[in-house]
Amino acid sequence: MTDTRQSTTRQSTVPDPSTPPPSVAVVGAGLTGVNAALAFRNEGWRVDLYSDRARAELRDGLPATGTAILFGNSRVPDRTITDDRYAGTPTAQFTASSVGIAGTPPEASFTARFTYEAQSVDPRLRTDDRLGEFLDKNPATAPATSRFIVGEVTPASLDAIAAEHDVTVVATGKAGLAALFETDPDRTPYGSAQRYLLTVTAHGLPVDHVFRGRGSTVPGGLLSLHEEGEIFVGRHLHKDTDDTWVILAWARPGTATEEAFRSATDARTALDVLQALHHREFPDVAGDIDRLRPIDTDPHSWLKGAVTPRVHRPTARTAGGHLLAALGDTAVAVDPIAGQGAQLATYQVAGLRDGLRTALDEGRDWDEELLTEIFDRHWREHADAGVEVTSLFLGDPLFAEVAQEFFASAATDPAAASALFSLFSDPSPALVLRTAADVRGFVASFREAAA
Ligand SMILES: Cc1cc2nc3c(=O)[nH]c(=O)nc-3n(C[C@H](O)[C@H](O)[C@H](O)COP(=O)(O)OP(=O)(O)OC[C@H]3O[C@@H](n4cnc5c(N)ncnc54)[C@H](O)[C@@H]3O)c2cc1C
Repeated sequence: MTDTRQSTTRQSTVPDPSTPPPSVAVVGAGLTGVNAALAFRNEGWRVDLYSDRARAELRDGLPATGTAILFGNSRVPDRTITDDRYAGTPTAQFTASSVGIAGTPPEASFTARFTYEAQSVDPRLRTDDRLGEFLDKNPATAPATSRFIVGEVTPASLDAIAAEHDVTVVATGKAGLAALFETDPDRTPYGSAQRYLLTVTAHGLPVDHVFRGRGSTVPGGLLSLHEEGEIFVGRHLHKDTDDTWVILAWARPGTATEEAFRSATDARTALDVLQALHHREFPDVAGDIDRLRPIDTDPHSWLKGAVTPRVHRPTARTAGGHLLAALGDTAVAVDPIAGQGAQLATYQVAGLRDGLRTALDEGRDWDEELLTEIFDRHWREHADAGVEVTSLFLGDPLFAEVAQEFFASAATDPAAASALFSLFSDPSPALVLRTAADVRGFVASFREAAA
């Protein structure tokens, strides 16, 4: 977009049929881009969604870029984008997690009951369902001019795209076009990846499985901590099979666990590595994890790699001077240990849509100042806390006392366990929790609010 766009006074509730709708380019059809395209289209705006891959390849030809669990609160903005079509699917929801720490007695384990329902849906499925909605040509719901355009966008073609649209958002994930946006050193927490990741989706355990070896009495997931990393196991609605579970594991850099993760070459070997890790570190649940087997119909049901955390400046310019806005992982990329990436992107999409709509109503230009203002609000209300809580779960020294107090008290106090897991849904307390006393105060107020 150029800054020369004419101001228009629009009433979003009473559209003037003589004024064409504003046009938005969304580049990248991952979960963020498709959410944005759908949200903008539902405003009646003309949307061009650009993807380097065709729809079938996005769904079936690639691994998911992540697990994208929506923990509680972020499901609220998500429902403003479209209906929650997985709410009634048991595989997709979980409400508890049993925590174990390697080398500690069984009494140190605990089960945290969530005060919310986490929803774990294969992002390829969620994205494809929403892309289907976006492509719905029903004229009552879709402006006839909205388009899905397949082909890699380059910096040069991006210049032409941005020249033709009132606003252009880039949602191409962590790499590639994200480099057009400068890194914000004040908001970026680390200069390098803090963990190496290995994840696999598998089936073989019923979705109502209870990890009794961990002392749990309710169905739910697992969070297991050991010296060289962490492992999460949870229900997950896979795009084409039921009764599925995701294992998501983190290895500290330079450890034997990292080396083992790097050795995985497919879903079978990834599962082998993760099952062996459970036998070594968490025999209490190793037998359960052994029951999981690869999903033969999906060769892409596993992933390895690392996330270099990065917060970018919210806007950039193409070579021709046209304005771009960063969205999703292109704007804020965080290690998934606190499950924040897709959640932040959901808030960001809803906030951008609302901010652009308000600007239209007020006759304000969609310019750099506006886009920066909208992102700064997102940073204050969500992303800053999402980055901080990620540092807490990464074991950052800043949170050493906080983490120790949480885990020690959670072993005997169910409210402390629930309070700890509430941070996945509402990370804002991570901005102020620094000492053991802070944690005790937080747990006390959490207990009071729950009573
Ligand atoms: C292992 C793991 C687990 C995770 N778990 C969670 C979790 O539990 N909860 C949570 O909230 N978050 C989680 N995340 C983070 C979450 O998955 C990501 O934040 C989210 O998927 C990012 O979506 P995106 O659309 O922004 O980027 P992407 O998914 O990377 O999508 C980018 C899209 O742009 C396309 N593209 C790229 N370049 C171009 C180009 N030049 N032209 C056109 N198209 C292009 C790509 O093909 C892709 O389709 C996890 C991440 C990982 C790695």
